[in-house]
Amino acid sequence: MKICDAIDGMLEARRRNSNNGDGKSLGLVPTMGALHEGHLSLIRAAKTQCDLVTVSLFVNPLQFGPGEDLAKYPRDFDRDRALLEREGVDFLFAPGVEEMYPPGAVTYVTVEGIGDRLCGRARPGHFRGVTTVVSKLFNILQPDLAFFGEKDAAQVAIIRRMVRDLNIPVRIVTCPIVRDLDGLAMSSRNAYLDPQERKSATILYRSLMEVQKAFDQGEHEARELIKEGKRALAADPTVLLDYLEIVDPETLDPIDDVSRRALVAVAAFFGKTRLIDNLVLEPT
Ligand code: AMP
Repeated sequence: MKICDAIDGMLEARRRNSNNGDGKSLGLVPTMGALHEGHLSLIRAAKTQCDLVTVSLFVNPLQFGPGEDLAKYPRDFDRDRALLEREGVDFLFAPGVEEMYPPGAVTYVTVEGIGDRLCGRARPGHFRGVTTVVSKLFNILQPDLAFFGEKDAAQVAIIRRMVRDLNIPVRIVTCPIVRDLDGLAMSSRNAYLDPQERKSATILYRSLMEVQKAFDQGEHEARELIKEGKRALAADPTVLLDYLEIVDPETLDPIDDVSRRALVAVAAFFGKTRLIDNLVLEPT
């Protein structure tokens, strides 16, 4: 695995790969490190669909709000590198903050409207940080395919829109949510949870399952479905709900009646740790 922390080095590696004329496809898996099975599932998907796989590892300050967990975000480069070596990744791009945002960098990519929904409303500026860094990664690495987890469903919708609106020549591939045995979606932030919070956190998935159950029993009114989910969450008084919404998976607009595919997205605090989860309701 070639490790690169410089943009020029990465551009050069990309140029060499496309100049040798054998048309090898490149897959990109953007991450913030602290890798878990969710990340590895994206890498394995990329390995099966692309000739070469690049993983980027960058804790992007631009997508953290003031008072969020940027400073304490888990970082373990050596462990991540060993995992990526084992997965047979070809390139690891791990730039420093100054490399990505040199002094004087003032240009941002904003997906308007849709970027202010769900986590975008709860975390102002978050998606602007995401779309800015992802478009930089697309420019630097020029992937044919880029892999994202359905765990961050709003992120997927926003990146798809950005790619469409800016005609970025990359295909977005999404992969299902990887969960622990008790249903909790894997997340680097799960490491923050104390044992009691870890136990409580399973309520996120259980509340989504309650929504699914009510839907399967014939309830299609979003207001009622949301009520079911919130009732399940309220069973644990230590949980602080941020949002539970039912929206169109592409526009993130709220849906009243689930007569077409609908994204049920939830975010809640367990102590100081904010976790998200979602599922897609599929009317038959
Ligand atoms: P992060 O390092 O948290 O920025 O995540 C990097 C990528 O991994 C994003 O596309 C996430 O959606 C994806 N990801 C994170 N957790 C999971 C999971 N539990 N299952 C599937 N993909 C995930």
